[in-house]
Amino acid sequence: MDLGLSGKRALVCAGSKGLGRGCAEALAAAGVEIVLNARGAEVLERTAVEIAAAHGVKVSPVAADITTLEGRAKVIAAAGEIDILVTNAGGPPPGVWSDWAHEDFLAAIEANMLAPIALMQAFVPGMSARGWGRVVNITSAAVKAPIAQLGLSNTARCGLTGFVAGMARQVAPTGVTVNNLLPGIHATDRMAALDGPVAQAEGISLEEASARRKATIPARRYGAPQDFGAVCAFLCSQQAAFIVGQNVLVDGGAANQTL
Ligand code: NAP
Repeated sequence: MDLGLSGKRALVCAGSKGLGRGCAEALAAAGVEIVLNARGAEVLERTAVEIAAAHGVKVSPVAADITTLEGRAKVIAAAGEIDILVTNAGGPPPGVWSDWAHEDFLAAIEANMLAPIALMQAFVPGMSARGWGRVVNITSAAVKAPIAQLGLSNTARCGLTGFVAGMARQVAPTGVTVNNLLPGIHATDRMAALDGPVAQAEGISLEEASARRKATIPARRYGAPQDFGAVCAFLCSQQAAFIVGQNVLVDGGAANQTL
């Protein structure tokens, strides 16, 4: 399907690996020029070269921590005028609700709520002025079905979800759509980092821990970054112009709910 995105420019945050990379790949495949961000310059530059070579589009790496004021300022300045914004950052660590300190909550809210809001504040006014734009915020299935040990994520991402619910409807008249994309379990470094402690706690191998988790997913597998990226690119497409303020779950059916 031609997504009608050829020649557009996108900023994909936290995109050197995993789900962010999946989104960058799918947008590049649709002819979108990419500004690609992550902290680690080496992997970022390698990923940028690989995506550019695979899809024949310009990919400009910007190494910076998107959760800090300075990092964001660097990315915003480097990105310039963009049509598409994909917000993303690393997720908060797992833990027990009674152990998290004030600083832990502030860090999670900074990374997974305030950073995407600041990026939207930086880029959406320009998109609105030009009459076209797309924002996809990578959040989590935890927004719809809480994951108890990821309480910091549940908290910060629900805050972002509430913000987007109102803001998306305010900017929709200007031709800008804002939606959230909710990953269920995908095979990325983040998932390996979460499976590891489970295997350790239960005295089983990593393979066994991942097999048990796959058995809880109706699709019986972890998602691939390509599964996720394809939906992101569709949400950015011309065809998706009437999808506004939605929370789109990509989870292989794992959340057992009717709506
Ligand atoms: P991942 O495979 O660990 O990749 C994370 C990417 O983000 C890397 O490119 C990393 O590069 C970059 N990054 C991390 N922190 C950053 C920061 N502060 N500033 C800029 N770049 C940063 O993770 P993932 O699985 O793709 O997950 C992406 C997001 O989706 C996370 O918030 C995660 O919690 C959420 N999520 C994932 C799953 C899943 O199953 N994978 C499920 C639900 C929610 P550098 O380290 O070099 O910066």
